[in-house]
Amino acid sequence: LKKESSINSNCGVFGIYNNPEAAILTYYGLHSLQHRGQEAAGIVTSEFLESENRHRFNIHKDHGLVSNVFRDEKILTDALRGTAAIGHTRYSTTGASDKRTNIQPFKVIFKGGNLALSHNGNLTNTRELRNHLQDEGTLFQTSTDSELLLHLIARSKKESIEEKILEAVSFIKGAYSICILTDDKLFAIRDPYGVRPFCMGKLGESFVFASETCALDIINADYVRDVMPGEMITIDKDVIKSGEPKSVYFEKVERYRHCIFEFIYFSRPDSIVFEEKVDKVRRRIGKNLALESPPPKKEDDRKRVVVINVPDSSNTATLGYFSEAAKHNSDIKNEIGLIRSHYVGRTFIQPGQDKREMKVRTKFNIVKGVLSDRKVVMIDDSIVRGTTSKLLVDLLKKASPKEIHLKITSPPIISPCYYGMDFPSKQELIAARKDKNLEEIKEWLGVDSIAYLSEEKLLESATNTRPETGFCTACFSGNYPIQIEGIDEIPKNGFDD
Ligand code: SF4
Repeated sequence: LKKESSINSNCGVFGIYNNPEAAILTYYGLHSLQHRGQEAAGIVTSEFLESENRHRFNIHKDHGLVSNVFRDEKILTDALRGTAAIGHTRYSTTGASDKRTNIQPFKVIFKGGNLALSHNGNLTNTRELRNHLQDEGTLFQTSTDSELLLHLIARSKKESIEEKILEAVSFIKGAYSICILTDDKLFAIRDPYGVRPFCMGKLGESFVFASETCALDIINADYVRDVMPGEMITIDKDVIKSGEPKSVYFEKVERYRHCIFEFIYFSRPDSIVFEEKVDKVRRRIGKNLALESPPPKKEDDRKRVVVINVPDSSNTATLGYFSEAAKHNSDIKNEIGLIRSHYVGRTFIQPGQDKREMKVRTKFNIVKGVLSDRKVVMIDDSIVRGTTSKLLVDLLKKASPKEIHLKITSPPIISPCYYGMDFPSKQELIAARKDKNLEEIKEWLGVDSIAYLSEEKLLESATNTRPETGFCTACFSGNYPIQIEGIDEIPKNGFDD
């Protein structure tokens, strides 16, 4: 439910070079990145036409899930021919989501040939750049920030495509993991703070790039390493011969600012992001929450306390919570108290019915027998507006539990994200509205207690020991590590570097 209504990751990107099945492999890659964006998907391939001695770019993109957009196999086998491809799955954070022109990858022809781009993240200085380019006569086809980069590359007076891209990148600020495909090269570029994840893999002689390693697993590619913050990797025919990707660092910062929310919620638990296994970090998050906020004791002669997860987003953290809590309290048991339906389509409502409530009821149901007359500890990953949590609590109450204790595996969200995640405005965030007053949030949700994980313990859960490793926690702290233009409401606490 959250993926549709509370927080949305904006994108997943994928790229592959030197494979005769580039489009099909990209399709599978996008399929495993579906959780990062469900509104639209697209693939661009580079095909060499021997008879004409030139490259042609083929494109297919549309609204919908990856399996719907590419439901006709012939799109992949006949229309999207070529040995290199980039793909994109999208949830919009900038640009109207219903416009087809806003769906990525973007494809243009410029004086150097064909160029296509897929972007995950959000640029934070687009207004200034857009105004500047428009003053100079640039016509924009989309309302997205990603198109800016294409124009900057196309306008560059530099000689080589590598130099053009590097010059364009020097103008942009914000969060970006980008795949760029030209006639004969594939580029992978990541912002200097490394906000969004980005990895490189190999499948035989082919090089692969993806937002998360689960997209490498699905095509049997091996994870090689991350595209590092501030790095541009180039793959071309020479690289295929040598086996060594070309790497350039265009900017180095003292401290990376990986999005900590990738560990809490966005990334799949079977992925490695920021060089750490998401599953392990998420379990540690649960464990730390158990240490900070253990479950209640059962009363004498009463049934054991049950710990339940909100499927699927808190499954892994709940395992961590329970295994730690059980070491100190033998009166608890782990149960499946909520069942999630994965087949939620449109919701039809009767007059007077609440749409959100209907969505919760079509998505979740309770297992009354395991909840009834017990103290229930429900583990959830985050509370955004609070409306979904409140509806879930109301649903649990139908089983007549004795008490409901809500434990959240993140700190209270008090500020929106400007780096590629779709959070509602500050005014809509329950923890901001209630000024982080736990008593008031508890009352509003109708639970017997509420606890959030502290920022300190959250950060402690990620244990990458690189000296440069650091995290963005702006949605919890209001400290935005990368400057954002034209936002009057923030930064509340100033920029922290
Ligand atoms: Fe991630 Fe929050 Fe920072 Fe956005 S503001 S990048 S969601 S930690």
